[in-house]
Amino acid sequence: MDPKSVDKNVVVQTMIPWQNREQWMELQLSIERICDGIGEDTQAITGLTENIRTSYSAVDAQLQELCEKTCSLCSDVCCMRATVWYEIRDLLYLQLAGKSFQETQVSREPDGRCCFLLDNGCSLPRDERPFICTWYICAAQKALLQEQGEAGELLISRIGEIQESRKNLEEKCIQAVLPV
Ligand code: SF4
Ligand code: SF4
Repeated sequence: MDPKSVDKNVVVQTMIPWQNREQWMELQLSIERICDGIGEDTQAITGLTENIRTSYSAVDAQLQELCEKTCSLCSDVCCMRATVWYEIRDLLYLQLAGKSFQETQVSREPDGRCCFLLDNGCSLPRDERPFICTWYICAAQKALLQEQGEAGELLISRIGEIQESRKNLEEKCIQAVLPV
């Protein structure tokens, strides 16, 4: 392996927050406390969580199909080079949707690949990946989406809806636990 690429991997690895197991466990406890402290006015939060869940489900097959058409031919696999991690919005959704946290924050293997990447692609269900993994559409896939016309536009719009719902979910959670 090129020593320069190892150095680069070390640098980008240090950008990922909550990598230490203790920090990860503490963060998990904090997210649990926030969600437990939401109180009784949960209608909006439940609605947003459900929106995110159904939107992920609605985009999954189309994104999978795009991957099947492009990823096996790709010479610059994004999951081998991207620096991604779970952020607070991801974790709030996982907790509120009743999903388990992974045992660790996303990390990079020594060769730079994401720790969740297997030979046949990502090992995580769509809505358990960091959102950025769904948000990112590479150039090859964008070109295919353009050919799909309205169906392609709908996919982008649904991903935008997930993004908006995640933002609103975080805001609602903060409002719900702040002292009045
Ligand atoms: S999503 Fe695009 S960049 Fe990533 S592996 Fe597939 S084709 Fe390559
Ligand atoms: S979590 Fe999955 S989709 Fe995201 S970078 Fe890792 S392997 Fe790729």
